[in-house]
Amino acid sequence: MQRITCKFGGSSLADAACIQAAMDIVKANPARRFVVPSAPGKRSADDKKITDLLYAWHNMAQQGLDASEPRKIIEERFNGLAAELGVSFDVRPCLSEIAERAARDATPDYMASRGEYLNGRLIAEALQAAFIDPAEYIRFKKSGMLDPATYDLLGAVLKGDGLFVVPGFYGALPDGTIKTFSRGGSDITGAIVARASHSDLYENWTDVSGFRMTDPRVVPEAKRIEAITYRELRELSYMGATVLHDEAIFPVREPGIPIHILNTKAPDSPGTKIVPHRETATPVCGIAGRAGFTMFSIEKTLMNKEHGFGRKVLSVFEEHGVSWEHMPTGIDTISIIVRDDELRGEADAIVDDLCKQLDPDEVVVTNGLAIIATVGQGMNHHVGVAARLTGAIAKANVNLRVIDQGSTEMNIIIGVEEQDLEKSVRAIYEAFDNWQ
Ligand code: ASP
Repeated sequence: MQRITCKFGGSSLADAACIQAAMDIVKANPARRFVVPSAPGKRSADDKKITDLLYAWHNMAQQGLDASEPRKIIEERFNGLAAELGVSFDVRPCLSEIAERAARDATPDYMASRGEYLNGRLIAEALQAAFIDPAEYIRFKKSGMLDPATYDLLGAVLKGDGLFVVPGFYGALPDGTIKTFSRGGSDITGAIVARASHSDLYENWTDVSGFRMTDPRVVPEAKRIEAITYRELRELSYMGATVLHDEAIFPVREPGIPIHILNTKAPDSPGTKIVPHRETATPVCGIAGRAGFTMFSIEKTLMNKEHGFGRKVLSVFEEHGVSWEHMPTGIDTISIIVRDDELRGEADAIVDDLCKQLDPDEVVVTNGLAIIATVGQGMNHHVGVAARLTGAIAKANVNLRVIDQGSTEMNIIIGVEEQDLEKSVRAIYEAFDNWQ
């Protein structure tokens, strides 16, 4: 019989009606045996996420302030959920323990993890499912990386034909200290559970009906993507397409478990499938762009004759602890593009060191750059993709600052000025929307 892991995001579990809808989805298919809940999210735009309240509680406790306000809101929220769902789960003893730890030695990770823990306890009771605490089975190495031993450890308790609830977002370090993934990390837990339980499918239930070809705030009519490969998604999500945590594909990629992005509010809509391979109809499957990049352009005559020049350039960035994103090159130029939030005020010091260590003719720093990735595995079978893209940018009257095509021919990266970002994304979308 098929086995399905289903992860529900915070917006799909924000109130009792949402939780009931999620539970109805679980019950509608007996293959849905592994349930991974997030903490309850916002019920409206001005509501608070439980995770944020827990971080706030931790901050207040650290500063010796009275944290009764976040505690009270959390207590009322879970009491209300338990009453409406008709379960006996009592959050108060758990909150006393959390308060005691908050006053003593709680880390932010421990505090934040309690949202998923409490919601997992509540939902396990409502579904009459076994509750599995990830603190015992999801292991991190001391370095903070996931310990692959997790898969066997967790797999061993997910045996049999029962129904299991494994809260998202956290696990534990070798000394037992709770550690969370980064924000939105329940998606990663879902992927870990899918792999550990040998699921055939990982359903990721959220509040949108799958991915769109580009950001619908920029192109409202952007089409839904039916299927996308792990690699294509990776290219798009590192550029900021955010429906799924960008690390969630790693656990399922090796065993090739497909991820299906689905909408709890429209469970019958087909969503988007993330798959190991797909038939390619169109050359472009998605376009993602973001602002906030800086480019360092280094010019030196005959740099191509100087052995180790590129390595020296990159080592300057490494010495300043700055990761780079792209490196377009010319015969006498190398440009290094970095995210502004990576720079942390290091730009001037980097320029000084580049000048000292490389004796360049010129180093020019360009701020306010936006980068757009146009992605699709079908590009390498199509002639004229780059021409079509640059043509669209020119027609939109946008000055193209950078263009870089990866050698896998799966993406074309362009750089434009930040104020041209939206205009460029729209122009690229229109150029490829109906191009077969
Ligand atoms: N509750 C956590 C967060 O708000 C994790 C998650 O929802 O995936 O980031």
